[in-house]
Amino acid sequence: MGPATYRAGAFVTAAERLGLDVVPGLDLPEPLAGRWQVTLGLDYNDPEEAARRVAAFAAEHPVAAILAVDDGATLVAARAAALAGLPHNEPASALAARDKLVMRERLAAGGVPAPEFRSYPLTVNPAAIADDVRYPCVVKPTRLSGSRGVIRADTPADFVAAFERTRRLLLGEGANPETTCLLVERFIPGVEVALEGLLTGGALRVLALFDKPDPLDGPFFEETIYVTPSRLPPATQEAIARRTAEAAAALGLREGPVHAELRINDEDVWPIELAGRSIGGLCSTILEFGAGMSLEELILRHAVGLPLPSTERTGEAVGVMMIPIPRGGVLRGVYGTEEASRVPRITGVEITARPNYPIFPLPEGASYLGFIFARGESPALVEAALREAHARLEIRIDPLLTMQRAG
Ligand code: ADP
Repeated sequence: MGPATYRAGAFVTAAERLGLDVVPGLDLPEPLAGRWQVTLGLDYNDPEEAARRVAAFAAEHPVAAILAVDDGATLVAARAAALAGLPHNEPASALAARDKLVMRERLAAGGVPAPEFRSYPLTVNPAAIADDVRYPCVVKPTRLSGSRGVIRADTPADFVAAFERTRRLLLGEGANPETTCLLVERFIPGVEVALEGLLTGGALRVLALFDKPDPLDGPFFEETIYVTPSRLPPATQEAIARRTAEAAAALGLREGPVHAELRINDEDVWPIELAGRSIGGLCSTILEFGAGMSLEELILRHAVGLPLPSTERTGEAVGVMMIPIPRGGVLRGVYGTEEASRVPRITGVEITARPNYPIFPLPEGASYLGFIFARGESPALVEAALREAHARLEIRIDPLLTMQRAG
């Protein structure tokens, strides 16, 4: 897992419930990892070496499974499991679920409908290709997540600005301009859903299908509300599950969690993304299966070969709002969380951003402000509760002061 992951706590709690020991492998250099009392410090920039280190550890300890908690870890985990002889996704399919260009190529090769795409080297002059692009389009990096650097462009001028902005973001992250490319694909209008699933021997079990009731039309794609069960007609839900299974098969993913984003319009059901990990942030908190089992417990049970008692979701409708970051600056505080928590059907409000630190909205930002959770009799009531709770929050952000140069 990455050092800033939101997901560690839920997995560690689930492991404790199952009596499993956890050896965290963190994307941190060994000296720092040591300071954090982590057993394995890994460098995801060198996945081969990181995988060798995990496999060497597994050769000396009784390791039952190697699990990727977040996107950055999927490749390392698949390679390490292959080296250690543990059940795993093929490293090539882990790459396809990690790299959006490889994903598009694999989906196309597998005959799965997906947006038309082209890739361009980071070094290209966007003005020189702006007339070749079909609009509206989406510019996106191949290996970031959380919608970072994903920008819609409706005109050649938008496209040039979007390309330059995402390029700046990637260069700022240390991308090598000679070997990095940007994906440009057709913008698919429609409603969007997220499917949380578990693959076993290539068979997909749908764990939850979330509606995203806020329109995601760009130019940036900040996630806000997720609500399950979906309000889409059963036939559409079945088509979404079928398309997700086809996409997983085209990528070669066979084992473990999948988190897929799909768009639905009159034309078709379009896979936008399929990741070989579970849902991000603290969103999984709202999910409960069988007799009170968490998503992480299901995933761990599957990973170590324990029986899966029931993957039926229990309880009522549930939802989560990833609290939008209204603007960049220094977060001074989020007020009104008590009032928001008191809104009927709200089960929790958790502010995860730290006060007095800078926060950045998309397309550059990489973290969440926080989460609001709700549970209720129907998806509509859950959605309304989330909106009402959000309206009670006051988010205070001061502008970032620019340094004055003396002389
Ligand atoms: P990430 O892995 O960073 O989340 P995605 O490829 O999933 O990147 O894109 C993020 C969001 O941007 C999607 O959930 C969707 O709302 C929007 N998006 C991405 N590609 C397209 C597309 N081709 N058409 C329409 N919307 C898109």
